[in-house]
Amino acid sequence: MTRERLYLYDTTLRDGQQTPGVDFSLEDKRVIALMLDELGLDYIEGGYPGANPTDSAFFVEPPPLKATFTAFGMTKRPGRSAANDPGLQDLLRAGGKAVCFVAKAWDYHVRVALGISNEDNLEALRESVEAACAAGKEVLVDCEHFFDGWKSNPDYAGACARTAREAGARWVVLCDTNGGTLPHEIEEIVRDVSGIVPGSHLGIHAHNDIEQAVANSLAAVRAGVRHIQGTLNGIGERCGNANLVSIIPTLLLKQAYAERFETGIASDKLATLTHVSRAFDELLNRAPNRQAPFVGESAFTTKAGIHASAIAKAPETYEHVPPETVGNRRRVLVSDQAGKSNLLAELQRIGFSVDRNDRRLDALLVEIKEREAEGYAYEAADASFELLARRRLGTVPNFFAVEGFRVMVEHRHNALGELVTVSEAIVKLKVDGESLMSAGEGNGPVNALDHALRKDLGRYSAYIEDLELVDYKVRILNGGTGATTRVLIESRDGKGQRWFTVGVSPNIVDASFQALIDSVVYKLLKEGAKAAA
Ligand SMILES: [Zn+2]
Repeated sequence: MTRERLYLYDTTLRDGQQTPGVDFSLEDKRVIALMLDELGLDYIEGGYPGANPTDSAFFVEPPPLKATFTAFGMTKRPGRSAANDPGLQDLLRAGGKAVCFVAKAWDYHVRVALGISNEDNLEALRESVEAACAAGKEVLVDCEHFFDGWKSNPDYAGACARTAREAGARWVVLCDTNGGTLPHEIEEIVRDVSGIVPGSHLGIHAHNDIEQAVANSLAAVRAGVRHIQGTLNGIGERCGNANLVSIIPTLLLKQAYAERFETGIASDKLATLTHVSRAFDELLNRAPNRQAPFVGESAFTTKAGIHASAIAKAPETYEHVPPETVGNRRRVLVSDQAGKSNLLAELQRIGFSVDRNDRRLDALLVEIKEREAEGYAYEAADASFELLARRRLGTVPNFFAVEGFRVMVEHRHNALGELVTVSEAIVKLKVDGESLMSAGEGNGPVNALDHALRKDLGRYSAYIEDLELVDYKVRILNGGTGATTRVLIESRDGKGQRWFTVGVSPNIVDASFQALIDSVVYKLLKEGAKAAA
C-alpha cells in the first residue's frame, strides 16, 4: 500500500520565539535552522522579516537549506492595493521560497481587532495570496482562531479557508490559536472543513493550553490534514505549541500512523532526535526536561527492583518503543530500592561486565546503600556513581592526590570604601610525586576553590581546559545548622557532554569540593588520561 505524504512545518524560529525568555540571536537562528534541516523538516519558518532587525538580517542571507525556507507576515492593509503596501512588498522581496500569511478567520476578531468589514478581510487575504503567487512564492495561510471562529460563525471561517485556497494558497492552515479546543472537536471540524478545502491542502497549527496540542495535531491528521506545524520541544507563547519532538516519533513509530503516512524524516535521523532536543535546550541555556516523552532522561528509566529484573529479561515489558529508535537509552536507577539486577544493568551500561556472583558486587551494593543513607544521591549523579563503581572494581587510575585545601571568606571595605565579600582558596595537590599549590579567587568559596583547583593540575591541566560547571545545587538534608549538606554539580565539556557529581558533608564547602574533585576525575577518565607515576 502506498503511504500518503505528511508535511512537517517548523515554526520554532517564529512562534517559538514568543516564549517568555527566549530571544534568538542571528547565529542561534542559523544553527537551529541547520539542525532542523538535517533532521528532515519540510518547511522551516525563519521569522517575520520586517518585524525586527534580526529577522530581517536572517532573510537577507538565509542559510543553505534543503527545506522550504518560509517568511511569515501579514496580509496587505485594507484601503490600499497589494502593490502599494510597502510591508507586503518587503515580505515578497524577502529571501525564501515560501510566504506564510496570517489571516483572521473569526468574524469577532475581524470586527474588534481589525475594525474592518468581513468582506474587506477576505479581499485583503485574496489579493495578498494572489500577489505572493505572482511573485513566485509558495503560499501558506495560517487561519488564526479558526476553530473558535468556526464555532461562532462557520460560514465566515469556511469562507476564509475557501478564499485562501481559491487565491492559490498551497496550504490552508487551521489554527487553534487560543489552544483550548478538544481533540474530538478538532476532528469533527476538520472533517467538515475538508468539504470546502480538500485535506491534501489543509494544515494544523495547535497551541498547548490544555496540553492537547500533540493530540489535536494527530486528530487533525486523522480527519484529513496533511501538514502539521509545531516547534522543537514545544516551545511557544503561554503553554507552547505542538511539540514536534513528540509528534515526529509518534508518526514514525506508531503503527496507526506509520503504515498510512510517510514524512521527510528518515529513521537514521529519528535516532538523532534526543540529541537534537537536548542540543536545542543547550542553546536556550536551560536544563532539558527529564520527563519529556521519548527524549527525556527519565523516558526509559525504571526505579523499582522488580521492574528492573523484568526489563533486563525483556525490555518491551515496560517500554512502548525501543529507546534507541529515538536516540535515547534505557536507564535503571541505582537507588535505595534497587536490587542487584539494577546494579548489574547500570554497570553494563557503563561498560562493565561483572559476574552476578562476583563478591565485589555485594560489597559495592552495601556501600551504595550506606552512602545513600548518609545523603548521597547516585540517581542524580551518574558520574559519581560510575567513579564509585570503578574504584571498587579497580579501574580508576590515580591521577593526583589532594593534600589539603583552605578557604577564606572576608567581608571588608575595598579601596573605594564599599563593603565587599571576597573569597580566596588555596589547594595543595600531589601529581607525579611533586607538590603543587595554587591559589584562586572567586565570588564565593566554591567558585574560589574551583579556580584554585584548575589553576595547576600539572600534566593534567590540558585535559580540563574545556571543563565548565553549569549548575550547582545545594540541599540541606536534616534541618538546623548541624545538618548534612548535599551538593550536586552539573558539568559540561567542549563536546557538549554533561555529567553530574555529588558530595555530602556537614560542611558545605567540603561537600562542594568532593563533587568538584569527582567532576575533574571523571573528565580525566573520559579523556583517557594516564595514571600518575
Ligand atoms: Zn501560533
